[in-house]
Amino acid sequence: MNYFSLNKKAPNTSFEEAVVKGLAPDKGLYFPESITPLPTAFFENISTYSHEEIAFTAIRQFVGDEIPEKELKAIIAETLCFDFPVVPVDTNIGSLELYHGPTMAFKDVGARFMARCLGYFNRKAQTQEEVTVLVATSGDTGGAVASGFLGVEGVNVVILYPSGKVSDVQEKQLTTLGQNIKALEVTGTFDDCQAMVKKAFLDSDLTAHMKLTSANSINIARWLPQMFYFFFAYKQLKDKNKDLVFAVPSGNFGNICAGMMAQRLGLPIHHFVTGTNVNKVVPDYLKTGDYSPKPSVQTISNAMDVGAPSNFIRIEELHDYKLERLRANLSGFSYTDAEATAAMGHLLKKLNYIAEPHGAIGYLALKNYLKTKPGTQGIFLETAHPIKFRDVLYPGVAENLAIPPQIQAVMDLEKEAIAIATYDELKSFLKERC
Ligand SMILES: *Cc1c(COP(=O)(O)O)cnc(C)c1O
Repeated sequence: MNYFSLNKKAPNTSFEEAVVKGLAPDKGLYFPESITPLPTAFFENISTYSHEEIAFTAIRQFVGDEIPEKELKAIIAETLCFDFPVVPVDTNIGSLELYHGPTMAFKDVGARFMARCLGYFNRKAQTQEEVTVLVATSGDTGGAVASGFLGVEGVNVVILYPSGKVSDVQEKQLTTLGQNIKALEVTGTFDDCQAMVKKAFLDSDLTAHMKLTSANSINIARWLPQMFYFFFAYKQLKDKNKDLVFAVPSGNFGNICAGMMAQRLGLPIHHFVTGTNVNKVVPDYLKTGDYSPKPSVQTISNAMDVGAPSNFIRIEELHDYKLERLRANLSGFSYTDAEATAAMGHLLKKLNYIAEPHGAIGYLALKNYLKTKPGTQGIFLETAHPIKFRDVLYPGVAENLAIPPQIQAVMDLEKEAIAIATYDELKSFLKERC
């Protein structure tokens, strides 16, 4: 499969090159040249297939023959080492829990898949040259990338995070693994971290020395595997014979856009709903037709504090850049921190379900959409385990929340991070240590 740049000013490229580069040379996001729907028999018989078989069928065409079948199946098996249950929450509402993986965030799926693809390409090339994955994180990405890439040969990972601005659990997940994972604690904000990473990618003095790549959802190998769990949810809900609506709490819009790719493959999804916090560029666009990115505002659902969603261009591409087509497939609503907290309270007290702020926003958006759609089956994506956001849960919840073993394991380890404040410090670190 070849990929083209959505800026249309760079040559088309292979899956491998798109994964290794991350972004096209013209700064555009890569997008597959074609999307071929899967046979209807596959959907009719989905209950007879395992998760691994479903995932392989979904992603095969996007990888093509660049990874042999046996290798790709092994990559998928290692990626999907946990469950994706749809938990009933209310009449016709289920929570698709994506947090049963190693770092308890949905980003585990994409990070694990991408790490293993890079590892395969490196082994195949048989070069001594190592790849350095450089990422800035506001919290969740870093932990999933650290865990997903841990021990992958030929790949170094350097994670920048804003000092004092990630939760204690998230910080431990970033800073305790050792081996090929290095954490840099930046005096500044997430935007400062991101700016340093961008500068490094453009610094020819650095890129002449080393192979640098990114691991955020602009990378096709992190973005595309997020299709899988929409299929898994369908498998669990198919027998209900109802129209399915997915509500996705969104920041960079990679997750919801992967759902739309699944829909393109023929997965019967009736409609999408996005829930955002007050960083609401997309809901505003759906309402007014005016798309205006803004600087991000800090909220309790900080993994969605994004003012200029990087994957939205892919959603536009999927809807031919036509607002009316988009509106027919996507609705969007935004919520304040107070509303998210009230929703966590409602879920807990009325429905006996513990949600964290991102999932609670997905729930609110779903409820809003379903008001006029009785008889529809709604699913909201719970994108992280509540323990990861224990400082911002509904009052009283955190104190009684058991700490899952994979979290306790990292909490017991010693933090190791190098403090930096400037780009020059990042640059000398990369030159000396990678
Ligand atoms: C990353 C993240 C999101 C947002 O996902 P996008 O693909 O960026 O829209 C939502 N919730 C949690 C917990 C996340 O970590």
